[in-house]
Amino acid sequence: MTEEMKALVDKLEQTGNLEDSEFKAVLTYEDPEFNSYLNERARAVREKHYGKDVYLRGLVEFTNYCKNNCLYCGIRAGNTNAERYRLTEDEILECADEGYDLGFRTLVLQGGEDPFYTDEVLVRIVKGIKERHPDCAVTLSIGERSKESYQMLHDAGADRYLLRHETASKEHYEKLHPENMSFDNRMRCLKDLRDIGYQVGCGMMIGSPYQTTDDLIKDLRFIQEFKPEMLGTGPFIPHHDTPFKDEKQGTTEMTVRILSVIRLMLPTVLLPATTALGTVDPMGREKGILAGANVLMPNLSPSGVRKKYLLYDNKICTGDEAAECIKCLAGRVQRTGYRIVQSRGDHVDFVK
Ligand code: SF4
Repeated sequence: MTEEMKALVDKLEQTGNLEDSEFKAVLTYEDPEFNSYLNERARAVREKHYGKDVYLRGLVEFTNYCKNNCLYCGIRAGNTNAERYRLTEDEILECADEGYDLGFRTLVLQGGEDPFYTDEVLVRIVKGIKERHPDCAVTLSIGERSKESYQMLHDAGADRYLLRHETASKEHYEKLHPENMSFDNRMRCLKDLRDIGYQVGCGMMIGSPYQTTDDLIKDLRFIQEFKPEMLGTGPFIPHHDTPFKDEKQGTTEMTVRILSVIRLMLPTVLLPATTALGTVDPMGREKGILAGANVLMPNLSPSGVRKKYLLYDNKICTGDEAAECIKCLAGRVQRTGYRIVQSRGDHVDFVK
């Protein structure tokens, strides 16, 4: 590793910022020693704010119906081979109860954009969870909605909202989505969520079709400006029933590098080592944690529906029961030198 490259990591750690040309150097420099140094500094920063703690989020994938047709997604409306399912309100509440008993203090309700779940239904579900488990945080990940809808759900008790921006380049966004989806509306949604007072998560895929290093730098600039409390990023993985079925998947190396860069830019961000990262590499989630990630999101959905929520091919953990998932993850985390904690795991700015 050259002294210049080491100095760029130190500058990023000290200032949270680099020039575009410097970001480009950090994203493209090929040297294992450099990668190790970048990961090491990212770990030091995460430990300063979150110690050795890794937070768990219990993920309930409650519907795989979606009205949209994102070109990369296995549950896009146009995929007639997808076997569709919806969980009932009672089934969702049962998942929440099971998760609570297993020690989860954050539940993430994730689904396609499914008009079946109206504001009224979702408000009932969020209130139901909050009444049964007032010490649990509820995160929603249900796509683009109106500001009024976001407000109603927040009033009902939802604490956090995940909405990946997917790419901060409008031009790139239009290559990943059909014409009836709008970059500007995605940005509007993120702004509304922030204004309402949610802890907000955005994020992008790494190595998605047509993505350039300049696009990634635009993502970093957007993240820097938006300052999300949470950031979800994982490698792009093609799904066999989508227009991108023959595209190359994103790499572990680039994903892990971006995780470290984000940790140095936003020291307190809640940063998951994603299931997609664990799918492209059997040690992906461990590598993510060792690169500065501090969140894991095991699946709490009933095991009968897990294989149907296939956003991409070969997704891991679609067969295990939730309890098995946690045992497996706890062991994996422990071997990295970190530990899973039972906590809501709020962003430090939101700790009451
Ligand atoms: S990425 Fe989300 S919005 Fe797009 S098709 Fe898939 S589930 Fe629907």
